[in-house]
Amino acid sequence: MNNVQWEELAKQINACQKCRLAKSKKVLGGGNVPCDIVLVGESPGEKEVFEGKAGQLLTDILTIVGFLRKDVYFTNIIKCHPPNNETTADSALSCQSWLFQELEIIKPKIIMPMGTFATSFFIKDMTKISDVRGKWLQCGDYKVMPTFHPAYVLHGGGPMANDYIISDFLKVRSELMGINNKVKAIKIKSKLLNDTILVGEGGVPLSELWLNLKQQ
Ligand code: URA
Repeated sequence: MNNVQWEELAKQINACQKCRLAKSKKVLGGGNVPCDIVLVGESPGEKEVFEGKAGQLLTDILTIVGFLRKDVYFTNIIKCHPPNNETTADSALSCQSWLFQELEIIKPKIIMPMGTFATSFFIKDMTKISDVRGKWLQCGDYKVMPTFHPAYVLHGGGPMANDYIISDFLKVRSELMGINNKVKAIKIKSKLLNDTILVGEGGVPLSELWLNLKQQ
């Protein structure tokens, strides 16, 4: 039974002493087991995966594209909450086998690494996330759709980055549903961006719509 396997893995991760973050709080992935979609971030907050503003924005984005939080499994490359949020390549390397084992248990159809740090786990020679986001990759048995990290929207990327994340999620939804999925333009109020965002059809950058709306 998959949950038993997950509990067993969780025990092993909680006992991990492999790197200098070992004394930090361990915050494991969460969601249904098994699950069709796995979202992979960098490292967890203090309490749970994807808490805080980036997590709230991610929940908004999931809602826009028609997913619930329970439709996705959230995890991170690094399993310990790093003091000062500083993550390093050596901790990522130490954690690598945990993620592989986790993926074997969750059995996703699609993995979405979010941001440069997580995506470079799947593409070893990657230079820029903007070169690879929104493109399908095959990594072993897994279909992978890299996207921006939601924190990037809040720290410089703005509505343009938000739109790209939405369009990447829409590609994933279309793929899973096996249809050319279209989402009609709707207005949503984003508390985080403190503005109204207009969301249009899948697969296209939507910032133009957003800018038009701002001018109305
Ligand atoms: N919280 C997470 O769990 N992961 C991130 O990458 C950022 C915030």
